[in-house]
Amino acid sequence: MKQVYGVIGDPISHSLSPVMQEAAFKYCHLDAAYHAFHVPKQYLEQAVQGMRGLGVKGLNVTLPHKVEIMNFLDEIDPLAEKIGAVNTIVQEDGKLVGYNTDGEGYMQSLQPISEKTIASSRVLIIGAGGAAKGIAITMASYGVKELVITNRTLSKAESLAKDCGKYTSSAAMPIGMAQAKLTEFDIIINTTSIGMTPDIDTMPLSLEMLGKNVIVSDLIYTPFQTRFLLEAEKKGAKILNGLDMFVNQGALSFKYWTGQEAPREIMKDVVMKELGG
Ligand code: NAP
Repeated sequence: MKQVYGVIGDPISHSLSPVMQEAAFKYCHLDAAYHAFHVPKQYLEQAVQGMRGLGVKGLNVTLPHKVEIMNFLDEIDPLAEKIGAVNTIVQEDGKLVGYNTDGEGYMQSLQPISEKTIASSRVLIIGAGGAAKGIAITMASYGVKELVITNRTLSKAESLAKDCGKYTSSAAMPIGMAQAKLTEFDIIINTTSIGMTPDIDTMPLSLEMLGKNVIVSDLIYTPFQTRFLLEAEKKGAKILNGLDMFVNQGALSFKYWTGQEAPREIMKDVVMKELGG
């Protein structure tokens, strides 16, 4: 029987998960369908009950439901529990289990370009929203040497730094101070939406003080290279956009659902095509 999977969010029409996951199922000859479900906040609980009732095998969860959804699941994986958000649900024998693959997906995208170990890296995270949380807590759990979080709303950075402090050395900083101390970091990650299409001329902070041998990364992949990445590259940094993270988080979800390794190159190709690349 055909297995049904999907992604829930609000809005959802922009999601590239359906083309990416459908391509993976097709390549692996799995009899499965993947659909984007538009689920407004007030229907979240019913959507989860619908998943049980209809035997939907797995879901991705995107904005704004990643935190709220945890209230309706039977089990939460320990990493997702630490992060406080779920982006993947697996239904097994009527039981709904929640996972978070965002942070792990990011770590997998970083590994091929990082010469330093995570244990010897000092990391600056710009932003303190959902994506920042996934990455910061995962990095902290991996034992990153030092984590600094900066954000427009400083109190959110402070709260996230406190959570990360359970696992590693971490602190919050106003944006101006982080900007002045850029030489102290090996990896700088923009997790805000600043620089995303159509606001492509904006940057989350100035890179004037950027040091040498730094990785500068942006979770955005529309445009493919943000102004932040272009300026970092001009200053000699290695750069990383958000496409590999997106593919990796989807590949990890695929593995939770099917038990099989996902065809990451096929998934990346189809997303690149959708993006016009
Ligand atoms: P979110 O929870 O809404 O957080 C947004 C963050 O951006 C907050 O820290 C917010 O600061 C900051 N921000 C937004 N607009 C700003 C502005 N004009 N000036 C200064 N700061 C601003 O969103 P999210 O889920 O973390 O997503 C953030 C970005 O990551 C989005 O661009 C999203 O597309 C991308 N993302 C990519 C992937 C991937 O797979 N590549 C996965 C997840 C997310 P305040 O706290 O001050 O509001």
